[in-house]
Amino acid sequence: MVRFTLFGIPVEIQPWFWLTLAFLSGALTSFTPEAMQYGLIFILAATVSILVHELGHALTGMRLGGGAAKIVLWAFGGLAYNQGGRFTKSGRFWMIAAGPGAGFLLGAVVLLIMIAIFGPHDALNLTGRWLFGSQSSFSHDTIAFVQDRKPLVSLLRSMIWINFWWGMLNLLPVHPLDGGQITELFVKPRQRVHQIAIVAATAVAAFGLWRGDLFMALLFGYLAWQNFQAMKKLGWQ
Ligand SMILES: [Zn+2]
Repeated sequence: MVRFTLFGIPVEIQPWFWLTLAFLSGALTSFTPEAMQYGLIFILAATVSILVHELGHALTGMRLGGGAAKIVLWAFGGLAYNQGGRFTKSGRFWMIAAGPGAGFLLGAVVLLIMIAIFGPHDALNLTGRWLFGSQSSFSHDTIAFVQDRKPLVSLLRSMIWINFWWGMLNLLPVHPLDGGQITELFVKPRQRVHQIAIVAATAVAAFGLWRGDLFMALLFGYLAWQNFQAMKKLGWQ
């Protein structure tokens, strides 16, 4: 267990967190030095990104009257708690939105760093290639930089990928992801929140299976099942 304080907020990192990230990085299935190096860089990028996301929740939550905050990083990502205060509905909305917001902001800062290194044209094309696999041509300088500084480029790539795609997935209306918690604020009755989550999570799990992404399929399959159980408890409506 790793424990420290960041901006006055206690942070706890549980062992499962590292294991999940190591699995996601691919470092557990390939033992070449290059894969291990890439795996470590991915774990670093993911840890920083998740911490920034949770700090977004925690700091905004404290400001908006939620009380003292605590951050826990566990198997499937991060949690930020506020205790001892009370949110208004809009306060709660902004506390939830501040997590993904902080992540997208971090992604934008990385994009600015890339613009400083590669110029706007190549920085945007690299981002398009990393996020969507789009094909484009690059200057000789950019190609040489990418080949000569592989660790730095892996770090930039992981930061862009994680902060964009995890941010988008997290905004899906699947309780208890942030998107699902925002749904909960606006959709009544509660059964409806879980019904929406079941449909969205099943669709993402099917998409994961189709893409051969086992982690995505398992995670969203589990979320669909969890929402199904929650709905059963409340009674069908
Ligand atoms: Zn969040």
